[in-house]
Amino acid sequence: MATVDYVDEVLASVKAKNGNEPEFIQAVTEVLESLRPVVKKNEKLYRKNAILERITEPDRQIMFRVPWVDDKGQVQVNRGYRVQFNNSIGPYKGGLRLHPSVNLGIIKFLGFEQIFKNSLTTLPIGGGKGGSDFDPKGKSDREIMAFCQSFMTELCKYIGADVDVPAGDIGTGAREIGFMFGQYKRIRGMFEGVLTGKGLSYGGSLARTEATGYGLLYITEELMKCHGESMEGKTIAVSGAGNVAIYAIEKAQQMGAKVVTCSDSTGWIYDPEGIDVKLLKKIKEVKRARLDEYAKARKSAKYTAKKSADDHGVWSVKCDIALPCATQNELNLEDAKMLVANKVKAVCEGANMPTTLEATQFLQKKGVLFICGKASNAGGVATSALEMSQNSERLSWSFEEVDSKLKDIMVGIYHNIDDAAKKYGMEGNYVAGANIAGFMKVVDAMLAHGVC
Ligand code: NDP
Repeated sequence: MATVDYVDEVLASVKAKNGNEPEFIQAVTEVLESLRPVVKKNEKLYRKNAILERITEPDRQIMFRVPWVDDKGQVQVNRGYRVQFNNSIGPYKGGLRLHPSVNLGIIKFLGFEQIFKNSLTTLPIGGGKGGSDFDPKGKSDREIMAFCQSFMTELCKYIGADVDVPAGDIGTGAREIGFMFGQYKRIRGMFEGVLTGKGLSYGGSLARTEATGYGLLYITEELMKCHGESMEGKTIAVSGAGNVAIYAIEKAQQMGAKVVTCSDSTGWIYDPEGIDVKLLKKIKEVKRARLDEYAKARKSAKYTAKKSADDHGVWSVKCDIALPCATQNELNLEDAKMLVANKVKAVCEGANMPTTLEATQFLQKKGVLFICGKASNAGGVATSALEMSQNSERLSWSFEEVDSKLKDIMVGIYHNIDDAAKKYGMEGNYVAGANIAGFMKVVDAMLAHGVC
């Protein structure tokens, strides 16, 4: 009698149990599909120990009410989440996303991806993620503080420097981390490295702000170098205009490339002279304004309002390298076709899962060098782990020291995923390489810990 393939069996079960969580199913499918060769080789051991069933089921999913009072005196209620996915190689670690689109499925997809990403950094951190459907946009500082304090009042029961160390993500920057840290300290009565992305005056790390964007460029540079190319003179299309995008643009320019696009949720910019990163920082980090302000302030730039179905936004621009740095599923099959028609050489993800599964497969089939987010944006969490190390030893390292460690980690990740892909006969498939390399270390620890 033919037995059902183990990967298919687990995928079917994940789909049946989590049918209303499309992003989570998408992430699990992408990972398990690329693990097929490894699973085949170790099927008996993995089946007996239910490795795939265990790795796709979070350790726990915490959901809670977050009541807070707005400036008009009205009580508002949001939903808070923390998914502690897997702590086999270290305390749970992953950001807190504050965005109206947040739901359990999105937090689970991010937490699941985080397991493998954190493993790839080679640092001792497990996978988790959290957040809320709270929208920080348009809120006063007092309202933000009221929300953050209420959120942490519940979350503080489940986290700690050796238990679970959340960080920033979309909508959670230095201001929000500060308010949350203050509340944790107040309730728990202890000063410990329970959050990363902290301000420099209270335990934050230099270079954490730049880390994800800079790290993305370090791995992209290594990828190009290993394929006989340099960054010098390359044209780059970036999406997003947030933390990851801004510092990706900055580092790309330092490497001699020209970045000609960026975007936000209202529209996108094409600036053939190259994005003025100083101006972009002023608009996005200081004024917190929309991108049309950029075009108003710079003659060479053209602003186009929100991407529609037949407008491929930043992906319609001719470029050598594309760096999606905004959000999940922002680069679809049609966008990928446009990039290929324009002879793109490499796509490296700054955001988490910005490329749809079909678009990824199309780019790979067409020979475009493609590195997935769990490898290429791991610089953020790696530097968060370096922040944890500095907090533990009660020391602060210089910018250069952190930046040089970050660069070593990113170059190391490239070679690790490249080697893993080669080992399993999939040379050049960095998605498979990343999933395999990340997975092997976690499974090794899971097996060592017995049934838990
Ligand atoms: P930010 O909130 O700083 O920036 C996100 C940017 O993307 C904003 O400019 C936002 O526009 C834009 N954006 C959001 N949705 C869309 C959309 N549908 N179309 C176009 N633009 C959009 O977040 P980060 O830069 O921190 O994070 C970006 C991505 O990188 C996320 O996927 C995050 O999970 C991932 N990531 C972040 C890390 C970090 O260290 N920050 C680490 C690893 C991954 P607007 O300003 O209008 O909201």
